[in-house]
Amino acid sequence: MRSTFIDTATIIAVGSELLTPYRADSNSLFLTGRLNDLAIEVQGKVIVGDDQKMLAVAIERGLNDADLIVMTGGLGPTDDDITRDTLATVLNAPLVERQEILSLIQARFAAHKLKMPEINRRQALVPRGAEIISNGHGTAPGLWLEWRERVIIALPGPPRELEPMFDGQVLKRLALRVPSLRLARRVVGVSGRAESQVEEQVRPLYARWKERDPVVRATILGSLGQVELHLSTRASNLREAEISLNLAVEELVGALGRDVYTTEGLPLEQVVGTRLRSHGLRVALAESCTGGLLASRLTDVPGSSAYLDLAVVTYSNLEKINLLGVPVALIETHGAVSEAVALAMASGVAARAKADIGVGVTGIAGPAGGTTAKPVGTVFIAVAGVGVELVKLFAFRGERDMVKHQASQAALDMLRRILDDHE
Ligand code: ATP
Repeated sequence: MRSTFIDTATIIAVGSELLTPYRADSNSLFLTGRLNDLAIEVQGKVIVGDDQKMLAVAIERGLNDADLIVMTGGLGPTDDDITRDTLATVLNAPLVERQEILSLIQARFAAHKLKMPEINRRQALVPRGAEIISNGHGTAPGLWLEWRERVIIALPGPPRELEPMFDGQVLKRLALRVPSLRLARRVVGVSGRAESQVEEQVRPLYARWKERDPVVRATILGSLGQVELHLSTRASNLREAEISLNLAVEELVGALGRDVYTTEGLPLEQVVGTRLRSHGLRVALAESCTGGLLASRLTDVPGSSAYLDLAVVTYSNLEKINLLGVPVALIETHGAVSEAVALAMASGVAARAKADIGVGVTGIAGPAGGTTAKPVGTVFIAVAGVGVELVKLFAFRGERDMVKHQASQAALDMLRRILDDHE
């Protein structure tokens, strides 16, 4: 076995379904994250349909370009599962049947009181010299091949099979083949600023970090209503890497201040949940245009019953009046999408639930319903309680789902800032 290090990798995702609009190749994202953690750089990735010729070209190219090829998919028992056959051809390593795989597959079927279909026999065929990576969650075993100075790993396509195999069996073996540099990573979440504003603010820091030893790398990722900065550094020991990263994170927080909602990669709803819990406060939600999205996000966090009392979707004016006690006159005078109604929804739902804080969201998600005065994307968000009454008007852009998401994000962010100021 060669002892030189693995520095670079190519990922090959196999499967015609990945070339349709209906299925995305998420395995390569998972694999890239894990390989980067090992300081292996992913130089390229390819998606290939169920076509042996195309796959052979991709494998040959990968062998030429990188130290490691990780393949996903195409290990099933049917004719369109071409990974084994193509590897055998390209590496000139004929397929041999391995009894231990056959027995495992037979046992798996027997455990479900089924007889193994003859077609599954194919999964026991592996290119000569391949080592088996057992699959605890499916029938297709993975393969580890050493070829000249390269390593080739073939894993099954379903993420629930691939991920435990990689973490349980592949990671340790690969770790022996990379220099013993330790990697530290942090994800800093920012809300209330556009990606370009964040970028402008932190650019001077990037330049400084590049000069450091160890170097701190940063990637900026903007999505609806939030910006993430992914920071990483490598050093000969973890402590050194973490010291360097902590300093960079401190500098980021210094530059961006309260707009940073996490330095640990936590979702905003979890940050808000933790604040509510630590203050011992309970919240109630009255949503209109977000249709329950805010409640859904808050309840995505396990243990949210510790701080969420009530969440209602009051879509009609009648229910805003009946359920929340919003005065008819307010709706008649200001309209359902207004500052006054948002506030009345917030205080109304808090009163009804006897919660400490109420949140009210009312707006126009579109595509219809906009006017010149209140175009699509107009959303009022109110928070009432703990001595605060705050309403904000937002003008979100985008389609209906984008408006809904941004509104839920803005509501969570308002809550977060109010909770930060509390006591
Ligand atoms: P098996 O046939 O034993 O399930 P396989 O290795 O043959 O495993 P495929 O048939 O290629 O895997 O894919 C099975 C399913 O796995 C696909 O329908 C898809 O849902 C999922 N899948 C395959 N490749 C990927 C990928 N790159 N990213 C995310 N999901 C994938």
